[in-house]
Amino acid sequence: MQIQENIILAPYTTFKIGGPAKYFCLAQSIADVQEAITFAKEKNLKIFVFGGGSNLLITDAGINGLVIKLDLQKLEFEDNLVKVGAGVNLAYLLNQSLEHGLTGLEFATGIPGTVGGAVRGNAGTYGQAMGDVTQNIQYLDEDYQLQNMSASEANFAYRHSIFKEKNYLILEVALKLQISDIEVAKNLVKERLAYRQNTQPNDPSAGCIFKNIAFEEAEIDALRNKGIEIDKFLANKKIPAAYLIEKAGLKGKTIGGAQVSEKHANYIINTGQAKAEDVLILTSFIKQQIRDKYGIQLIEEVQFVV
Ligand SMILES: Cc1cc2nc3c(=O)[nH]c(=O)nc-3n(C[C@H](O)[C@H](O)[C@H](O)COP(=O)(O)OP(=O)(O)OC[C@H]3O[C@@H](n4cnc5c(N)ncnc54)[C@H](O)[C@@H]3O)c2cc1C
Repeated sequence: MQIQENIILAPYTTFKIGGPAKYFCLAQSIADVQEAITFAKEKNLKIFVFGGGSNLLITDAGINGLVIKLDLQKLEFEDNLVKVGAGVNLAYLLNQSLEHGLTGLEFATGIPGTVGGAVRGNAGTYGQAMGDVTQNIQYLDEDYQLQNMSASEANFAYRHSIFKEKNYLILEVALKLQISDIEVAKNLVKERLAYRQNTQPNDPSAGCIFKNIAFEEAEIDALRNKGIEIDKFLANKKIPAAYLIEKAGLKGKTIGGAQVSEKHANYIINTGQAKAEDVLILTSFIKQQIRDKYGIQLIEEVQFVV
């Protein structure tokens, strides 16, 4: 495996933003991952793992360490169980599962990135997420020892898992899917893709920049008094961050090459030459506006690697 030096990371992210990695490698096997770890230990480098780069904002200064881009492509079907390498593209997994007569991943329609990144962030939509289909996870622990854990040990919650708490490296995941009506599932996927195309920008971004905001029963009156049409959100008990940003009049707000999408207010897009700095300033501006207007503290869904 080749370990390269000074590799610009922007092309490896969906935001198309980010400076160089001091060292960079593409790990296509567990042996490659181990070789990369040994290299990092010898040089005393910090390690950062890349999946599809679809949930990341990389600083303009880049990453002063070793970036391991995981390219573990195992994909094995047995009845309704799937063993999948962390580097497999989520969209490819969804398509292959449907081809094997398996449903249950339709919630992943249109989510870019890899299985490893999706499990770490418990990626999802429509009230479902990776934790709902995960059975077992093979990973390297903080001492880079090979371990296994079941989904019940993985602390899955809204856009959260144990892999955000600890520096574990996911290698492979076993998923449990269902054998049910494939035509219904394929139609759902088609509809959801069309919906995304109509409601989300095509420009480079990292998806939703902020998490939606959970609220408690006790807060409802106060939120209503701030002008939030809270009744619309009672069913999900979450206020969409996009609703607040649009209501605050921030659609189209631009700093340098970073812009709040006109199509979906919770997306910051790179209009061409955006720097990480532009995104950071725009994000702080949005947070301050939403805090001042509604007393709500937005929390980033995108990981800012600064
Ligand atoms: C247009 C667009 C739409 C999106 N829509 C959605 C959506 O509907 N729902 C949703 O949840 N997300 C959505 N996202 C966000 C993003 O696609 C998901 O968070 C995705 O799961 C990230 O996976 P990735 O492989 O790209 O991770 P990366 O961005 O590469 O990495 C994210 C984090 O995971 C870590 N990581 C990656 N692989 C591993 C591994 N194998 N082991 C340990 N850590 C790892 C990285 O170090 C980093 O900390 C969207 C993004 C875009 C650009």
